[in-house]
Amino acid sequence: MKVAIIAPPVSLTPVSVFPRHPPLLAAQLAATVRNSGAEVVVLDAFQENLSVSDTVSAVLAESPDAVVIMPNDVARETPAAITGAISSGFRRAGGSAVLIAAGVGNIKWMRELVTEVPCLDGAVVGDPEEAVPELLGAIAAGAAWQDMPFVVTGTLPSKQVRPAVLKHLDTLPIPAWDLVGLDKYVVLAHRKLRGIEYPIFASRGCYWNRCTFCQDLACVKSPDYRMRSPEAVVSEMEAAATTYGAKHFLFHDGVFPNSVRWLERFANAVDASGLQCTWFCMARADGVTPEKLRLMKRAGCKNMCYGLESGSEQLLRDMDKGQTLEQARDAVRWTKAAGIEVSATFVFGFPGETVEMASRTIEFAVELDVDYAQFMLVKWHHIPELGLSPGSFSEEWELTQYDYRGMVFVPSSYGSLSRLKFVRSYAFARFYLRPSFFLKVASKIGSLNDLRRFAQGGATLVSAMLNK
Ligand code: SF4
Repeated sequence: MKVAIIAPPVSLTPVSVFPRHPPLLAAQLAATVRNSGAEVVVLDAFQENLSVSDTVSAVLAESPDAVVIMPNDVARETPAAITGAISSGFRRAGGSAVLIAAGVGNIKWMRELVTEVPCLDGAVVGDPEEAVPELLGAIAAGAAWQDMPFVVTGTLPSKQVRPAVLKHLDTLPIPAWDLVGLDKYVVLAHRKLRGIEYPIFASRGCYWNRCTFCQDLACVKSPDYRMRSPEAVVSEMEAAATTYGAKHFLFHDGVFPNSVRWLERFANAVDASGLQCTWFCMARADGVTPEKLRLMKRAGCKNMCYGLESGSEQLLRDMDKGQTLEQARDAVRWTKAAGIEVSATFVFGFPGETVEMASRTIEFAVELDVDYAQFMLVKWHHIPELGLSPGSFSEEWELTQYDYRGMVFVPSSYGSLSRLKFVRSYAFARFYLRPSFFLKVASKIGSLNDLRRFAQGGATLVSAMLNK
């Protein structure tokens, strides 16, 4: 059986959007499907700047028996309309392969997708590496794959669906980067340190899993938090160093493992491997301690990103973030003391937010003086059940800005979406156009590469300030 795995374009019209993260889920799925005996091709239409019709032609040219469209991969979310356009274009052009969507853990989103896109034969919910090989096996055997518990189809809307859960992450093979080509991807300027940035994960799911704004669909947010063994993670890092010359790694975990025992084993395994690696990861501010951060630093952590979200305690409670401003302050202070750079993300437009709260968020970012701050608008895939909150929703699927895509809620305090976007632009200007920030950057410039990457970072910042 020949299987085409498609990472679709993120917009109906090709856009110049950077960075373009390699499609980790698609590459991981490709390796798993290939290990099951199928022939696999991976097409990253976003990276290749393919339009929907180019994507359809490229898939048809492969003459696959099955096509798996991944509407959501790590750090990459695409609207249902694009899966719809590819599927209907494929059928109109005479494509007869089985068309499946995969890579999403949210049953509701997948149900809506198969309803909106009748050309899809079905969708699998949950970990695709667990579900898709089994589904392809059933298709090959002529069995009734539509009855499988993790499958949703437009014709069986009342079926009880159970997302597929990959219990033992150590059984996963190394992602099939040979089918993707890692060196094509452009890394964010501040992370462009040492050649390629190898995408990897150490866990799947989120042990907190409660933030009401978090609608990460790409199987990252899941009630079942699972970790790989530290030794398996380091083994993949060693293979990446040998095969691709990787020295720098980006962990795509929703939250990096934070048990002292796990971190000790990880640091020991990195030491034993002799890897002189650096890596970035995301963590919760309430989950770190000075001891854990020292272990992370020893294992090569260069930059830690915390989702701090807001400078308002009230909003943090409303979001069910489970973090206080004091915990954020401690985490940032301890991380700096451990010698790790700090990135922080903040969001605007959460229901109930006022312009005054947004202003506190901006000043909180300035007070913390993190190395890099990212300011985002909260994007919703579904209208959330958060009770009545004055404001309105606005469709924002076609942003050319690289950002989470979806609907934006405009709290009534802002009055309009353009004012909300203005506040975001102002936040970038207020945070980055400070003399102390320029001095900090100047102190980090030690090579031509540093100068180049900070210049590129400046260009990215200008686009963010202009909401481009
Ligand atoms: S901690 Fe992060 S990944 Fe987990 S629910 Fe909150 S925002 Fe989502």
